[in-house]
Amino acid sequence: MNMQAGRKKKIEKTAKASKKQTRAAKKREQPHAAAEAAAQSREDFLFRNALNKRHEARRTLGMQDIIYNFEKETKELAYRYGYEIGEALFKHFNSDNTLSKMLESAGFGKILYYPFESKTMITSYAVDNLGMNSSIKMHDFEAGIMAGYLSQHSKTRLDAEEVHCKFAGSEFCQFVISQRTAVREAGEGIGDIDTASMMAMKALKGGKYGGACESYYLLESAPLEREPLRHIVRKMLFVLGKKISGKEEEAGREGNAAGKAAAFARLSGYAGVDAVSMAGKKPNALRLRYSHLNSASGFIDLSSSLLAGFANGAYKRKIKVVKRLNANGSYTVELQFL
Ligand SMILES: [Zn+2]
Repeated sequence: MNMQAGRKKKIEKTAKASKKQTRAAKKREQPHAAAEAAAQSREDFLFRNALNKRHEARRTLGMQDIIYNFEKETKELAYRYGYEIGEALFKHFNSDNTLSKMLESAGFGKILYYPFESKTMITSYAVDNLGMNSSIKMHDFEAGIMAGYLSQHSKTRLDAEEVHCKFAGSEFCQFVISQRTAVREAGEGIGDIDTASMMAMKALKGGKYGGACESYYLLESAPLEREPLRHIVRKMLFVLGKKISGKEEEAGREGNAAGKAAAFARLSGYAGVDAVSMAGKKPNALRLRYSHLNSASGFIDLSSSLLAGFANGAYKRKIKVVKRLNANGSYTVELQFL
């Protein structure tokens, strides 16, 4: 009896201690958990938005598309992340036409969907290549979404390949989704920053978000916002921005202050900035305002990097990027001339 009581006490003591430990551990984890929960709810929100809003614009080429298509490795990354999005789409949001709706948000219009016995074919006529004709099939991210979604749906591992692409000279983008027979290999990428900047120049004419809906655009950029990739992509976008400024100059559009300001405003819209203004007395800074929806720290870093590169090239000044989180949860960034 005594022994039992003693043991009971001991167990209670241990339980108390472990509860204490768990609490302490929870406390330590809290900031991380809170950030994760916030990221999760943002992602959820983006998913719902992308699925529920009607979207009719045609896909051109977004900032992320240029990054993702840069080389084989980044194309592979786009596919893998698209796959995760596709899986999540089926698991958490599946209803009638979920995949079609998501692809509509991607700017793919009303897709043609043909389920055959051994494969599924999806075709989109809506993509607008803005007169670009490269040899690159640009839609690994979307191929990933299709593969992830249909794998969950059929409970078999499927893979998707874009067999025709508007950007590679076809009349449509077409995907074949089937069981994997060989190791999937990503195609060739853009490969050099000069070509990438020429593509970006053309893409600027396609307007905001590369023709995708805003929430889809933000979902697509999420993996680029995470370390260690964020660091690399930031540098790349800075160089890209600088190159674009050089191209604008060559085209004679940056001769005067008004031309520079107009080119900067165009690029800002493309990079998801809500409003641009000059700041300071001289003025000595460009102020970028981001909408609440676009205000994820990682996205702000990428977007402002592209613009800092442009400003560096156009104004021939060193740029300091100062990021400020406003009380209402949106970001303002100042590109200060040093
Ligand atoms: Zn395509």
